[in-house]
Amino acid sequence: MSALAGYSDFLLDRYFNLPQGRYVNLIVLRETKSETIFRTEGSGEPLNREFVHAGLTDGEVIPRVVISKRKQTAVERRTGRELLRGFGLLQKHENGAECMLNTNAPCEKCVDCWVYGFAAGGGGAQKSRVITEDAFSLLPASSIVDTKTFNALFDNSTMRNPVTGEASTSIGESEYIKPESHFLDLEVLKDVTEDELVYACGNILRSSRYGAISSRIGRVQNTILALVFSRTEICSSLELTQASYDRLTEKEHPLRTEDIAKVITGENGALAHLLPQTIGPYQVMTGQPLAAFLAEVHETYNAPEPFLRRLDASYPAKSTKPKKSR
Ligand SMILES: [Zn+2]
Repeated sequence: MSALAGYSDFLLDRYFNLPQGRYVNLIVLRETKSETIFRTEGSGEPLNREFVHAGLTDGEVIPRVVISKRKQTAVERRTGRELLRGFGLLQKHENGAECMLNTNAPCEKCVDCWVYGFAAGGGGAQKSRVITEDAFSLLPASSIVDTKTFNALFDNSTMRNPVTGEASTSIGESEYIKPESHFLDLEVLKDVTEDELVYACGNILRSSRYGAISSRIGRVQNTILALVFSRTEICSSLELTQASYDRLTEKEHPLRTEDIAKVITGENGALAHLLPQTIGPYQVMTGQPLAAFLAEVHETYNAPEPFLRRLDASYPAKSTKPKKSR
């Protein structure tokens, strides 16, 4: 991929099973595009909040909403797996069962297993090479969280049971995140090839539903603001959130994505402030080079089959197991 030509020091030529210490840090801005509930609707469970410092210089302590890292990768894995399944690239076990997420039966052979990791099964293990942290809201919880009462309507769109005439008792309260709320996230890819980088970015860019699975609301738009190539891990997503908060001139909900992008990647932005602390070499991809890279990702996904087949064929064959028969 030509857009990645200048970054080969930080990527692997091909999959290698021992750590090499090459990192691609994806700076991802997640913006809610609808009211979003990250918990089961009506469960009454509050959203996750953490009390942390507002900024690195602003020492006030504020509650921030947290989206757990598990939630984020699970959604992105499913997005990738849908596509793999469509091309028959989710491998099957000898009994015909397909590679399954969150079971003790990963296939250990598909792109998803190789990139996001697996444990158990035939004694093998692949550490996940996609490392995520919890994502923090840029603004305090008080600015972006609201509560609403909802009631479950019957088929006749009323609160009365059409048969018994009794009033519905399923009235609940749920906290939700307002539309146009922003969360900053650092997704770290460790020891990946060019194709694996494209695959992980494709999954982030194509994922748009992060809410509770049972809920139809929860639309999120992901924007990749920068790629930071490095030989060690860079700052944490909380530090990045705080350094960005310090630089916001407006701190009222709703913020504009372009304004946030500026305070992160701009000349005196959060990254310019934090990255010099990184030990060892690093290279930042923003602006035109980033746009060129993302355009290549888009183009790849217009007709992804050859790309996915090439990626699938890039992994070592499992010699310990007999070839599957169909
Ligand atoms: Zn698998």
